[in-house]
Amino acid sequence: MTRNDLLSEFSTLFFPKVCAVCGEELLSSEDAICLRCMYKLPRTNNFREKEHAAEKLMAGRIPFERIATFCVYAKGGLLPPLIHQLKYQQRQEIGLLLGRLFGEDLRGSDFLAPVELIVPVPLHPRKERERGYNQSQLIAEGLSQATSLPLSVGNLIRVVYNPTQTRRTRTQRWENVRDIFRVIHPEMFQDKHLLLVDDVITTGSTLEACGIALARCRGVKISMATLGEVY
Ligand SMILES: [Zn+2]
Repeated sequence: MTRNDLLSEFSTLFFPKVCAVCGEELLSSEDAICLRCMYKLPRTNNFREKEHAAEKLMAGRIPFERIATFCVYAKGGLLPPLIHQLKYQQRQEIGLLLGRLFGEDLRGSDFLAPVELIVPVPLHPRKERERGYNQSQLIAEGLSQATSLPLSVGNLIRVVYNPTQTRRTRTQRWENVRDIFRVIHPEMFQDKHLLLVDDVITTGSTLEACGIALARCRGVKISMATLGEVY
């Protein structure tokens, strides 16, 4: 046992780490979620399929190759409290862990084979300062660790803080979505197959807005991955 291990054992005596799902105390070998809850994660496994719900949701909105979602995001299910703690309660380890588990599922798949670079959906800099981190970047880091694919942070940026979509015409909404994100150096993404990563897909408007910005890079290919999918 190293000195750091000792210190960590010591601190858990006073601040026991608990599972983010069931609240049971974690073993020292566990991180964020206990093994029992980990087995219960409602995986979609849709990276093995085509024409699943998320793919149909995005069809025709942006040019893309594939999309995969890790788990079902359903009210009362395991995922909503995990995403909530990841986004609002400073539990960054949840993003890293779920990203890693997703990456382990994707490793060696047809879905992942052509992907060259992982790109998390960015937060507006003000939002990232407020939160202290970007949850999608943590998920992307977990994916990168499990797949050994490189990560690109800072080239796709969010330029609009919080677009309001109410009481706008269709054209205005389109203008709105089109200008939320920007690519600073398009040549960095040129001819690359990107994996765009977000936390949860609901209406698909965030991925669409990112896709519009990314599609301006010459020869780019876009696949997408999210931890949750709202059913
Ligand atoms: Zn648990």
